[in-house]
Parts: sequence; C-alpha cells; structure tokens
Amino acid sequence: MNTFTHPEFSDHERVVFVNDKPSGLRAIIAVHNTTRGSAMGGCRMWPYDSADAALTDVLRLSRGMTYKNALAGISSGGGKSVIIGNPKTDKTPRLFQAMGEAIASLGGRYIAAEDSGTTPADMAVMAESTQFVAGLDSDTNSGDPSPSTALGVFLSIREAVRFRFNESALTGLRVNIQGLGKVGYELARLLIDEGVAVTASDINDDNCIRANETLGVKIASNSELMNGACEVFAPCALGGVINQWSIPTLNTAIVAGAANNQLLTSDDHQAADRAGILYCPDYLINAGGVIDVYHRRQGASQAIIDRGIADIPDRLRSVLEEAKSRGMSAEAIAQERAEQLISAALLTPKVTEAA
Ligand code: NAD
Repeated sequence: MNTFTHPEFSDHERVVFVNDKPSGLRAIIAVHNTTRGSAMGGCRMWPYDSADAALTDVLRLSRGMTYKNALAGISSGGGKSVIIGNPKTDKTPRLFQAMGEAIASLGGRYIAAEDSGTTPADMAVMAESTQFVAGLDSDTNSGDPSPSTALGVFLSIREAVRFRFNESALTGLRVNIQGLGKVGYELARLLIDEGVAVTASDINDDNCIRANETLGVKIASNSELMNGACEVFAPCALGGVINQWSIPTLNTAIVAGAANNQLLTSDDHQAADRAGILYCPDYLINAGGVIDVYHRRQGASQAIIDRGIADIPDRLRSVLEEAKSRGMSAEAIAQERAEQLISAALLTPKVTEAA
C-alpha cells in the first residue's frame, strides 16, 4: 500500500516523511488542507509499533484538524505531525531541532504545537530551527493549551446534559473519564468542583494516584470504566474507543471527551446514535486548545481566547438542535458544517504564514 491508496488518505496536500540519521528522528508531517490558512496542529510523540501505524494516525489526525479549525472559526487549515519514539526515553534537543528543520522546510504550510508526548519545552527547542511553532511558554502563559481544552470539554458536557436531560446543574451526575493526563485531570477537577461523581482510568498508576489523592477521583480499570453506568463517558486518552465492540456495552447517555478521533470508523457515529448514545463530535468540543494557541500566536487578548472557548458549547447546542430536527447524528451535521466552511473559504484569499 502506498500513501495515495492508504484508506485514511483524504486528498492531503502534503505528506512528508522525515528520516534524519544524525538525530535519529523519524517523523511524518501531514498537511491535510490549507484552504483556510496555514495548517495548524499538534506534534505528537508516540512509540508506534510500525511506520504504517504512525501514518494512519497522522493522516486521520490531520484531517480532524481541518474540521476542528474550520468549526472553531480560526483562519487555519488542518495538519498534524508525529514523531516515532518513546517520549519517556527518546527525547533529545537534537531530535526536536531536526523536527524544527523539517517543519521549516514546509515554508509555513504547517505550524506545530504540543500534543500527546510533547511539551511546551520541546516546542521551545523546535523553535530554535523554525518560526512555525505555536504554544510557546511566555511571561503570561505556560504555553500548555490543555486547560483551555479541558474547559471547552467541560462547558460542552454541561451543554450536552442540558440538551439530553433538560438539566442545567451537574450536581450528582456520574462522569467516567478515560485518561488522567493533562486534559483528563483538569476536566476531573472542573467537574468535581460542580459536584459531579468522577470515576476514571489510566494506564499510568502515578496519574491515578495523583487524581485520587488530590481530587478524590474514584479509580477503575478500563473495562469497569467503559461498562460502568454513568451519564457521561469522557474519552481523554486515545482514539478509536467508540467502535462496534464498545458501543453495545457502553452504559452511558452521552459521550463527550477530549481525545481526538474517538470514532474508530466513519460509521460509528450512526451506530452510537442508533444505540441511543448522544455522541458529541470530538473535534467540535476539544477545540479549546487550538483556539488558545492560535489567538496567542496572533497576540490576541485573554478576553478573545475566553470568548472563543465560550462559543464552543453554543456551537454544540446549535449542531445538536439541527441534528435532532433533521433526524441525523451530531457528527454528520458537524462534518457538513465544516465542509461548507472550507468550501466557502475557497472563494476568499488564504492567509498562510510566509517564511
Ligand atoms: P496526555 O498524554 O497528557 O494524557 C493522556 C493520558 O491517557 C495519559 O495519562 C495516559 O497514561 C493515558 N492513557 C493512554 N492510554 C490509555 C489507555 N489505554 N487507557 C487509559 N488511559 C490511557 O494527553 P492530553 O494532552 O491529556 O490529551 C488527551 C487526549 O486529548 C489525546 O487524545 C489528545 O490528542 C487529545 N487532545 C488534547 C488536547 C490538549 O490541549 N492537550 C487538545 C485536543 C485534543
């Protein structure tokens, strides 16, 4: 199979394979679509089992970023990059400098930010070789967009609960969170502050202990979490968790979380719908981080960032209402809207950053 015939290839504009022997960097950069501007999306570091697994991930993630950025109303296209390696053991300054050089070679078509396995400190090293890095540490901000992502997901959960149960308070609700990393932990904190009973799982024991000891999160195994009765299941770890095997056993009314690409296949949103599960499109509700990073790069005020995040639940509400009135899934409506926004942008000049 080559890239053009890969099942996840979706008219991507550029797919660049990087093999830098001196640093040991092996990476893939996928620019999906720059119709709305330079493609913005995270740089992930993960110990993929194979180059094909990395390619599958980056092709899917970059396409999701095109939709996410369009719906978020920012002048950015969609892209993503993946570094094949273990973030715990394989990081070196030379590796991230080489990644910066590879990004620079795209001349502004792609702007990276931190993602799973990378940090603002890694972005700072990449920024030594390229200007096309966002989410940097500054005097006023840690550079980590995760709190903004968690806030957008939290506000979206509140909106989905209001829509589904006609209930504006979250007190007494049960939310099961998969993944207690940067976003999952912060989401748990926001929910617990509102009186929600949070149960969570994580493969990292330290993260479980921290959330249990500091927030009182109840810890469960992954299977207990995914089959356990709750009002909201919030995937905040990995993609593909909503699929033909999990849907029949999920015991939740709503799925709303931060993880990218929660649906394993493009049919799974319909299956969730048929099972009576309200699936909130991941790229719609987890856009807080990219809104944060984009506006900070533009030098915008905190008030503009706050407004951008506050718009997320309003957008979700509008998508859910249209889905209900047309008898379609929220995912189908969100896709339709994103594609309309991208088509509309074809008629206007694009704003790509130049080297
Ligand atoms: P993270 O790496 O900090 O946290 C992920 C957590 O999930 C880790 O604690 C990890 O141990 C855990 N995990 C991994 N595999 C697991 C499994 N099989 N079962 C249970 N737990 C597992 O990442 P994050 O920044 O918190 O992001 C979480 C998800 O949200 C990712 O899919 C990411 O792409 C997505 N996302 C993050 C942001 C952001 O601003 N950080 C923005 C948009 C989307």
